Amino acid sequence: MSDTVRVRYAPSPTGFLHIGGLRTALYNYLFARHHGGKFILRVEDTDRARFVEGAVEDFMHMLNWAGIEIDEGPGRDGPYGPYYQSQRLDLYTNHAQKLLNEGHAYYCFCSSDRLDQMRKFQEKSKLPPKYDRTCLRLSPEAIKKNLDDHIPFVLRMKVPHDSTVQFTDLIRGEVEFAGSNIDDQVLVKSDGYPTYHLANVIDDHYMKITHVIRGEEWVSSTPKHILLYRYFGWDVPQFAHLPLLLNADRSKMSKRQGDVEARAYPPKGYLTEAVVNFISLLGWNPGDEREIFTMDELIKEFSIERIHKAGAIFNIEKLNWINTQHIRRKSDEEIYNMLKSDLEKSGYSDFPKQYVMSAIGLMKERINFIHELLTFSSYFFRDPDTFDPDGVKKRMLPPAKKHLSELADRLEKLDVFQHNEIENVFRTYAEENKIKASELIHPTRLAISGVTLGPGLFDLIAVIGKETVVRRMRYVVSHFDQITKLPA
Ligand code: GLU
Repeated sequence: MSDTVRVRYAPSPTGFLHIGGLRTALYNYLFARHHGGKFILRVEDTDRARFVEGAVEDFMHMLNWAGIEIDEGPGRDGPYGPYYQSQRLDLYTNHAQKLLNEGHAYYCFCSSDRLDQMRKFQEKSKLPPKYDRTCLRLSPEAIKKNLDDHIPFVLRMKVPHDSTVQFTDLIRGEVEFAGSNIDDQVLVKSDGYPTYHLANVIDDHYMKITHVIRGEEWVSSTPKHILLYRYFGWDVPQFAHLPLLLNADRSKMSKRQGDVEARAYPPKGYLTEAVVNFISLLGWNPGDEREIFTMDELIKEFSIERIHKAGAIFNIEKLNWINTQHIRRKSDEEIYNMLKSDLEKSGYSDFPKQYVMSAIGLMKERINFIHELLTFSSYFFRDPDTFDPDGVKKRMLPPAKKHLSELADRLEKLDVFQHNEIENVFRTYAEENKIKASELIHPTRLAISGVTLGPGLFDLIAVIGKETVVRRMRYVVSHFDQITKLPA
């Protein structure tokens, strides 16, 4: 077996990339990069009936979005391709023939009706659901006749019932299955295509995969795979089965709760860094309190030993929090560049870059999503056309009309329109009138932003600029009765 780590993400294109699939890909990638190994993408497209158009493109697109670089795979040819199973069919046929010749596989001509009946009977009699080996008892003559008569068949693996299959899972520890509990798995389907099990093992061998890191749902397939390795006389890779992803109520993460498709996250404003960081923690932790990581930090820290067995809860609030943390780590310029097309779409492209960057600087700590700069804090770009009714009721009291008017006049006269000078206007006015600064700050904030929360008022005023601030304050003064009129 290769001494360089070689791992793969091997999705079946039967749907778009699931968030759990992204985690599997990420863990494989982190493991590969941590050990200076290779990350391979293999498309397991042997189930033609369930093939979903556009799924492969979605995998590639989302892995690329997540910053998971493929070393070998579709469009990135390497020495062990092709990386689509549908292009490797001869390899599987040859190996199936070998198993047949050596007595490790057998023809099964059972019709789906017969198999259905068998399953119903097993269910009724509380027997384990397993093929009952009817066709294993066929004589060579009977087999030949069926083949000559073109009766459809599958190939099944012959599991030695008196054996046990054992392996050490890197996450779960010792795992053991009794041969008598292992089904005679179909290896080649009646359409001549291999099943997942056969193709997966053959490819992992020829692609020199050293570690198979995949979801927990595959644990029960692993003994079948190990038997196949034994039949072929191949080294068995190491296995690591990742914990299940659970909804907040600990049910299995399903379509019904939240978004399960990875592609749903970018348009909602989740940053690549945040999604990667969040997913990395679904089943793994660094062993201390740290929670915020970049991809490079994850690569450095990641180890299979720190993956836990227990199901990992997918908590969207945590993802939101991680998103804010990564927004804070970005420079104003980076955020500006990310916001540019939205600015254009909203008709705000005339605002100078420096202005937008100042607004970003003020808001970066306060937003969950970058696009909130244009929604929750639209007042950086347009005069408010509504005023928070609760705020108005509590803060826009009758004296505010005079205060706003006077303050607007004083602000207009400022030569240097910056935080300290602006603050000074407010403090001086408050002292002269023997009122608290808060009696000025709240109505002013409402007048210029329409809302009651936001960055420090003096900074906000400085960024929005004299002309706009004065205009908005005077607008409120001239429409004071209308704005403060309580609903009947
Ligand atoms: N094609 C399988 C899947 O869709 C791969 C499982 C494995 O990694 O072995 O998840």
